[in-house]
Amino acid sequence: MNVLLLGSGGREHALAWKLAQSPDMGQFYALPGNPGISDFAEAIEGIALSAHDTLVRWCKDHAIELVIVGPEAPLVAGLVDRLAEAGIAAFGPTAAAARLEGSKLFTKELCRANGIPTAAFARFTKAEAAWAYVTAEGAPIVIKADGLMAGKGVVVAQTVEEAISAIDQVFAAGGQEVLIEEFMEGEEASLFCLVDGETVVPFGSAQDHKRAFDGDLGPNTGGMGAYSPAPVLTPELEKRAIDEIVIPTAKAMAAAGTPYRGVLYAGLMLTSTGPKLVEYNCRFGDPECQVLMPRYTGDLLETLNAVAHGRLSQVKVSWSDDAAITVVYASRGYPGAHQTGSEIKGIEAAAALPDVLVFQAGTKKNGARLLSNGGRVLNVTATGKTLKDARDRAYEAAGLIDWPDGFHRNDIGWRALR
Ligand code: ATP
Repeated sequence: MNVLLLGSGGREHALAWKLAQSPDMGQFYALPGNPGISDFAEAIEGIALSAHDTLVRWCKDHAIELVIVGPEAPLVAGLVDRLAEAGIAAFGPTAAAARLEGSKLFTKELCRANGIPTAAFARFTKAEAAWAYVTAEGAPIVIKADGLMAGKGVVVAQTVEEAISAIDQVFAAGGQEVLIEEFMEGEEASLFCLVDGETVVPFGSAQDHKRAFDGDLGPNTGGMGAYSPAPVLTPELEKRAIDEIVIPTAKAMAAAGTPYRGVLYAGLMLTSTGPKLVEYNCRFGDPECQVLMPRYTGDLLETLNAVAHGRLSQVKVSWSDDAAITVVYASRGYPGAHQTGSEIKGIEAAAALPDVLVFQAGTKKNGARLLSNGGRVLNVTATGKTLKDARDRAYEAAGLIDWPDGFHRNDIGWRALR
């Protein structure tokens, strides 16, 4: 099968590594890819992910049979719809189904209409009414802007003053509407499910670390590390989340004529009354994907292709009992201003350790040298019989990487290991 993988992060490197193990893989391409992905797939240059017409034509010219979409933006922008019109199968939802990630208001209304557990909410188009609401409700309270904001559209306000200023910021930034949510208390966990119409198959759990520094301090980032499975999501809680949240969502999407196909990533809050939905994402998480792939023992290409063709119920999904952990190596200064272009050494030595994989994100090649080329640069990933084994191995590997301009957290996995 000829496959095109879209994306350039550690998530896509992990997918490429796993996909390449399938006996059914034919010509394998990546757009735009990265130096790590190039070990498995031929990198395509010169086509933007947003250039749908050019992309569809390129797929036709290269007899692509399956397009696997890594990031959310092309999904929300309708790439899968365009590919479908051209008769090309894709793993990922249509634009209508990707609204589960692209519009928080859409998802909140879907939850309300279907009795899906989530934070109570109100929406306002006028700042004054929103101020009055938060003043009456009190803090803590959560203020959100609609739309894809790359994780920057949410403020968990600790005081009413903070809430009011967050409301003002939403409107000042051109937002038409503000979403205000009840503050949910609990531990967060990520549940991944493959969904094809009304068939829902659990596809692993994980927890990530959003803050830049040890002790969950510092600014929010795209994610500084993750581990899988998430021990806090017990089999009982996972079953409740699937039965009470994911299945009703899949049914509602199908009933509305916009069935969901792809991976549905449910961000959950495990509250004292059970799991509640924080948000949906319509693709794998990054760095969560980097800890799911080493644990997946099925044929990933066969699995994702089955989802794309509505045959999910016919494939065997299987997992290793091992734990996996990934430690993100980022450029000093990230998520703020940071330098790029410094040399990274020692990846081979790190990856030569047993049960270690180093997935690349923001890297580029300069001849034989590997240089940093972004904020999050490497994902040092290890598996082990226990999470502690995996953690020790991942940090042993991270210690072999020679990159003075980089930093990583030293406490990934602390919640599960405390
Ligand atoms: P990202 O995709 O980067 O996680 P996002 O912009 O899509 O962020 P959300 O996931 O909705 O936003 O919220 C970001 C974080 O804010 C959540 O992971 C959670 O920690 C916190 N949060 C959001 N909503 C609530 C809520 N109602 N109660 C408590 N915490 C919340």
